[in-house]
Amino acid sequence: MAEFRFKALQKVIERHPVPVKRDHNLISDFYGINVFDRPKMKKYLSKEAYKAVCDAVDLGRAVDRKMADQVAQGMKAWATENGATHYTHWFHPLTDGTAEKHDAFIVHGEENGVVEAFSGKLLAQQEPDASSFPSGGIRQTFEARGYTAWDASSPAFIVDGTLCIPTVFISYTGEALDYKTPLLKSIQAVDKAATAVCLYFDKNVTKVTANLGWEQEYFLIDEALFSARPDLVLTGRTLMGHASSKDQQLDDHYFSSIPTRVYRYMEDLENEAYKLGIPLKTRHNEVAPNQFEAAPIFEEANLANDHNQLLMDIMKKVARRHYFRVLFHEKPFAGINGSGKHNNWSLSTDTGVNLYSPGKNPKSNLQFLTFVVNAMKAVYDNQDLMRASIISDSNSHRLGANEAPPSILSVFLGTEVSKMLDLMEEAVVDRKMTPDEKTALKLNIGRIPEIILDNTDRNRTSPFAFTGNRFEFRAAGSSANCASSLIALNTAVAAQLDQFKIDVDKLIESGVKKDEAIFQILKKLIINTKPIRFDGDGYSNDWVVEAQKRGLSNINSVPEALERYLTEPVKKLFASQQVLTETELEGRTEVEFEKFTMKVQIEARVLGDLAINHIVPTAVQYQTTLLTNVRNLKEVFSEEEFEELAHARKELIREIGGHISAIKAKVREMIEARKVANVIEDSIEKAKVYDRTVRPYLNDIRYHIDKLELIVDNELWPLPKYRELLFVR
Ligand code: ADP
Ligand code: MG
Repeated sequence: MAEFRFKALQKVIERHPVPVKRDHNLISDFYGINVFDRPKMKKYLSKEAYKAVCDAVDLGRAVDRKMADQVAQGMKAWATENGATHYTHWFHPLTDGTAEKHDAFIVHGEENGVVEAFSGKLLAQQEPDASSFPSGGIRQTFEARGYTAWDASSPAFIVDGTLCIPTVFISYTGEALDYKTPLLKSIQAVDKAATAVCLYFDKNVTKVTANLGWEQEYFLIDEALFSARPDLVLTGRTLMGHASSKDQQLDDHYFSSIPTRVYRYMEDLENEAYKLGIPLKTRHNEVAPNQFEAAPIFEEANLANDHNQLLMDIMKKVARRHYFRVLFHEKPFAGINGSGKHNNWSLSTDTGVNLYSPGKNPKSNLQFLTFVVNAMKAVYDNQDLMRASIISDSNSHRLGANEAPPSILSVFLGTEVSKMLDLMEEAVVDRKMTPDEKTALKLNIGRIPEIILDNTDRNRTSPFAFTGNRFEFRAAGSSANCASSLIALNTAVAAQLDQFKIDVDKLIESGVKKDEAIFQILKKLIINTKPIRFDGDGYSNDWVVEAQKRGLSNINSVPEALERYLTEPVKKLFASQQVLTETELEGRTEVEFEKFTMKVQIEARVLGDLAINHIVPTAVQYQTTLLTNVRNLKEVFSEEEFEELAHARKELIREIGGHISAIKAKVREMIEARKVANVIEDSIEKAKVYDRTVRPYLNDIRYHIDKLELIVDNELWPLPKYRELLFVR
């Protein structure tokens, strides 16, 4: 077995960076060549078909069948001219990743052979035999029909000779079975609510767009070493492995020069991304060894999320060309930095205003503060929903577990914005304000420094931080679909903005002036949300204690965190904003419980297998060598000398024996625990039992294996060690 490890190491040492060819000098020369974007639509579509698609994107209008036919013709012409032979409806099922089923563009010809064909019907709707995707019981397999329907707001693109058409995935009875459907609905909800509030400040606003800029963190591991770690192959993380003597203590990886092999990978990846119109902007080393990050220029949230999902897929493919494997797991290695996917979120108007950028005058700054305060209130009221939206088996190793930030939601605003809120709290009075008071307040509000963007403190420990012109929801995991957190955030903010409008209008109706009404409601919200504002160290133990005092929730168990999706307020929130019906919410939560249980089950099986078939035999082998050595010593030396010489070795033999026995006993107990859990029918209860009774064994067993790794002869150890996985490249 150890042979495999050494062969892998040998391979890595002999690797060279793979050269990358680029056909163009400038990115702008080939950006988006594989996307059916507006310039191409203009060229390939009739005027009216072009307008129909633009209206679908800009105004949310449906594209009728006649127009769809025309769009299909244009799309086919463009795609086939650019080498596409197949098309697929591309969607985001509730599993990790995206799904596609390819069909060739062919039908029987008039005489012999085939001709290329495509129609509006095929563009608009498909019925893939997608009965194996999880639906949480919404769609029984016997009526396994699920439909994909064209999302005209996200442009089609070509990958490897296949035209990919972004679609939603819904059941025969109309329920959402994917991430995109509720994401689009949540975008509509926040558009509607935010536009209504914007009208207090600017009569010209007709649409508000939600923006997303994700930051994708990942690890790259050499393919040979990866393949020698069955735990990485099967679960995406190392289930064992003693810490490397050196890892990230010296902070010498973060932002340092990018290793050449990785650099070539990034170039190759970026070329592919640019062809697909993914605006990658930033690349750098992250904190942990072999950890990296890619981030684009932000875009409209639905498109940005499609781009993130597409990029993750390309990242995996391109990695293979460079003999790497990319790890999206949130915590592939214990003890060092995990990977997140910060969701940078903002709202902007069709008049060109970022609602999360401070303005230049009192009015626009009041608008800015209105949106900041309402987002904060939405997070405060929906802490449990926000947590549920980002929690998963893998992300829980990064949040809430030991060595990770606690899973408490708090909001960081930075000194400038905090000061402004404190000032409003003080300056706004409950009675009618005098003209002087009002002028003074407005002057102050007008004074939010323009340099705030560069000024915002960089608190890296806050799960939800204001960073100058946006909020960063940082708790989202690197493997997650951004839609999950965005659905929660958009919907919560939409509901809060609705409430805000109701409250302000009520005051206005009672005779209070508009600006004063806004002041008064904001003041109430500022006072109400104080507990969620926290600018200190979110990773410290003191914060856990302090947060509890403030009444903030902190739920570390995954099933318990997920269960909060099913509370009455959350059901009501999603239903009232028309984002998810109760059935849909229950269905997808069920899928989450099942995913959790299955992931723990798989990890438990893999660990049990590796422990018994790889680790124990290795330890026994080394123990046998030691025993032979002791016996030989006894033959050669006098009794007295032998006792002295063999003492330490005998201790070691006992120590190894102790770990072997512990591993065997615990693996047996873990299997028993699984048996008990496996017969539980109810998916929530089952997940909870897995969490309580199976999951702890993963750490218990690992503890003994990691101890053995330190004792057993390096030459015998079968699995690549942390120092090799993280530093050999
Ligand atoms: P940092 O690591 O400092 O947070 P990065 O440059 O890595 O910054 O990532 C910032 C992300 O935030 C990028 O994707 C960027 O496009 C995005 N972003 C910047 N401004 C906004 C905004 N107004 N709304 C949404 N996303 C934004
Ligand atoms: Mg960031």
